[in-house]
Amino acid sequence: MNTELLTKTPAKVVDDLRGIVGRDWATGDAEKIASYLYDATEDLLRPEADSACVVVKPANPNEISEILKYANNVKLPVTVRGGGTGVVAGAIPTQPSIILSLERLNKVVELDEKDLMITLEAGVTLAQLMDTLKGQGRLFFPVHPGDEGAQVGGMVAANAGGTRAVKHGIMRNHVKALEVVLPTGEIVTLGAKLLKNNMGIDLMNLLIGSEGTLGIITKVTLRLYAKNKFSGTLLVSFNNYEDATNAVPDILQEGITPLAAEYIDRIISIKSAEQLGTTWPCSKGKVDLMFIVEEPTEDLLYSNCEKIVDICEKHNAVDSIVADNDKEQRRLLEIRSNAYGPYRNNIADIMDAAVPPSKIPNFFEDVNKLAKKYNREIVSLGHIGDGNIHNFILGDNGKLPENYEALKEDIYKAAVKYGGTVTAEHGTGKTRKKHMELQFPPKEIALMNGIKKLFDPNGILSPGNIFD
Ligand SMILES: Cc1cc2nc3c(=O)[nH]c(=O)nc-3n(C[C@H](O)[C@H](O)[C@H](O)COP(=O)(O)OP(=O)(O)OC[C@H]3O[C@@H](n4cnc5c(N)ncnc54)[C@H](O)[C@@H]3O)c2cc1C
Repeated sequence: MNTELLTKTPAKVVDDLRGIVGRDWATGDAEKIASYLYDATEDLLRPEADSACVVVKPANPNEISEILKYANNVKLPVTVRGGGTGVVAGAIPTQPSIILSLERLNKVVELDEKDLMITLEAGVTLAQLMDTLKGQGRLFFPVHPGDEGAQVGGMVAANAGGTRAVKHGIMRNHVKALEVVLPTGEIVTLGAKLLKNNMGIDLMNLLIGSEGTLGIITKVTLRLYAKNKFSGTLLVSFNNYEDATNAVPDILQEGITPLAAEYIDRIISIKSAEQLGTTWPCSKGKVDLMFIVEEPTEDLLYSNCEKIVDICEKHNAVDSIVADNDKEQRRLLEIRSNAYGPYRNNIADIMDAAVPPSKIPNFFEDVNKLAKKYNREIVSLGHIGDGNIHNFILGDNGKLPENYEALKEDIYKAAVKYGGTVTAEHGTGKTRKKHMELQFPPKEIALMNGIKKLFDPNGILSPGNIFD
């Protein structure tokens, strides 16, 4: 890489980029680029950004193509930036880079009601997508990672999940087509507005979850679904995680698939509610399951809620509360969404492992033993229906704990031991890539490296993410 161009003659790079995007859309001004140097990665984990960067904001795929051809020509790294809500430092430039922001690609291209699909430019935010569908009224898109500032391109690049994956899956399950600018500048369309499509090798699925390393996503076609009319939120309390986690597979086997099935350590809910100036309604027991149930009829909603409670009671549930009015449902969801809030200033790492759901009790047991072994407080919540648990490793008064690396690695090993993964939804990025060997044999890593080389022979795109 020829990063000296940015450290010694940044004005020349800005001028060259302005030649592509116009005067107003490229800058090296320190104040203007400051907010592009970080994302939502935890403070204690966030790698330091290199400030010798310039930001470019292209308007269309052709301009992106020209920028990538230029970057290949002069050998400069390009960091791709969506909404900046990622938590594994994927959008943080850790070496002098061109930061390419998708924010101007923000148009809804087509809402195709007959085929139940929507095509969006990659910089459309999740909030914008939800507003568009609210206006239409009957259709909805199910994937919802916690922050609505995420862009659809970023959600595809990160293969985002979220609370609703138990019923509807993750981004990969809903992407039908992508327009992508390859690192070498060619513009390709992968996939189509089809429900069945088996021709050739599926390159589109390689791009989903590639975290900015294989191409820049510029347009996304997503499948939509008919909205259910009736929803309720159910809280069920247990004395321990074993009973709570064992109840969930029985509920799914009964044929009831809630929109969300979330596990929350009680202490998290109490602190979150306190921070929001409200109270958590459960007092019996020590842990809670939160179910969001959505059904097409009111009768089905109530009968499914009753069945969930019955099954939980067979697993020693000690209490249950149903919220069926909008206001109370919103209040409970707000408390759940604010779960990180009380810990934000002293969180070392939000772990993101997943195991097969039936192995969650074993995984929890291992994590609790490790917490004791390393003398650390670990609190947990997670998308339990997906086997995806977020264990919060807390810091030492705002610092990474001394034994943090060893504890983290042992938790990853525990997940992998049960057939799990280091990261279920947040991704590899820059913060988890050193643990690739824990999960993959050398041959698989070599195949991934080969694919990267084929797409990006000069290694200009998102250096530091996933690959060394
Ligand atoms: C409070 C909070 C809660 C969250 N909860 C969840 C959750 O429940 N589930 C979940 O999965 N995630 C969650 N996230 C993480 C995050 O919101 C998702 O990863 C999201 O998909 C990132 O989208 P973004 O547009 O912000 O991408 P960015 O952060 O900008 O980028 C993420 C990665 O994608 C690449 N990228 C971005 N746009 C493109 C593009 N157009 N083409 C190619 N590469 C691109 C970047 O280079 C980077 O590597 C949460 C984040 C926060 C802050």
